[in-house]
Amino acid sequence: MFNPINALLGLFSLDIGIDLGTANTLVSVRGKGIIINEPSWVAIDKNTKRVLAIGAEAKEMVGRTPANIVAIRPLRDGVISEFEVTQAMLDYFIKKAHEQSFIPLPRPRVVIGIPSGVTEVEKRAVYDAALAAGAREAYLIEEPMAAGIGAGLPVMEARGSMVVDIGGGTTEVAVFCLGGIVVSRSLRVAGDEMDEDIVQYARQKYNLLVGERTAERLKIAIGSAYPLPEEKTMLLRGRNLVTGLPAAVEVSSIEIREAISGSVGILIDVIRETLDHTPPELIADLMEAGICLAGGGSMLKGLVERVSEETHMQAWLAPDSMTCVARGAGQVLEQLDVLRQVLVSTDRRSTSASPT
Ligand code: ADP
Ligand code: MG
Repeated sequence: MFNPINALLGLFSLDIGIDLGTANTLVSVRGKGIIINEPSWVAIDKNTKRVLAIGAEAKEMVGRTPANIVAIRPLRDGVISEFEVTQAMLDYFIKKAHEQSFIPLPRPRVVIGIPSGVTEVEKRAVYDAALAAGAREAYLIEEPMAAGIGAGLPVMEARGSMVVDIGGGTTEVAVFCLGGIVVSRSLRVAGDEMDEDIVQYARQKYNLLVGERTAERLKIAIGSAYPLPEEKTMLLRGRNLVTGLPAAVEVSSIEIREAISGSVGILIDVIRETLDHTPPELIADLMEAGICLAGGGSMLKGLVERVSEETHMQAWLAPDSMTCVARGAGQVLEQLDVLRQVLVSTDRRSTSASPT
């Protein structure tokens, strides 16, 4: 029913889309675009359980903290159900978005993208935390759905479309049709796993101990899923495990491709398995529309070529692929009347979120 007060509030209110990623949290605001992009880290005092820092500041503390301070990634480490941590994070991001407006605004409406694997308890924790953090209305959306909307896929239409969202901790594969997810897979192999592969490789082949962030930089610089037009080399620095001394070795993009090939292979298998379970009519649609790759991990060199070759379908990289989920979540609020059915129900009494 039309409510004039709500309509008025809507005109001036802040509409926020949040991507609660395992690696990065992004916030988009209607009319402004992405205003926050920070690592999903929280630093906590182990003894008092007090939250000391969030986002970029917390990530800075990693590896440099005194023993009583731990820096955790609530979404990757699977403690999203820890209410205080989740709330502190949402509180920080929502307030930060709210503070950026010059005039005092009514409390914001938020849509939060959550990994599709999370439990009911975790969903509830995120939802409650958003309200406790000052949201006037809060909605949850599954990340692959938000990624699809943000990438501009026709998720509401009767034809099929597909997204593969590769993040830090999770990869989500989903096929959409008529506003729903027809087939989906979620797995815990994504960008982080490739970093670990590189750490392992350096240890086994060169007796070299390297940090995860060094491995990540190497992956971004010369990692690939398909032979490169011009193979490259790079210096990898760490500590020699035999001598205990600092050491550096030159590694090639061919070696790094080999190092991460196991994880890349798992990704490809999951994409193929999802296609295997997709109804034939939708496969026909996908052959026309192709497979959309989103998330930071999708920017791995040669991934588009590799997925295309292995699936016999054209893969393509979503424009601005790292911000798809936040932008998609934000777009839902712009067209809440049309898109309400794509949201996740957080109220057990209403099993269907779609209006009848
Ligand atoms: P999440 O949604 O889980 O927070 P993101 O979508 O932010 O994750 O992606 C983070 C992952 O993307 C990290 O593993 C990071 O190493 C990886 N990544 C970012 N840029 C690149 C790149 N150019 N090539 C390969 N991987 C990348
Ligand atoms: Mg993500």
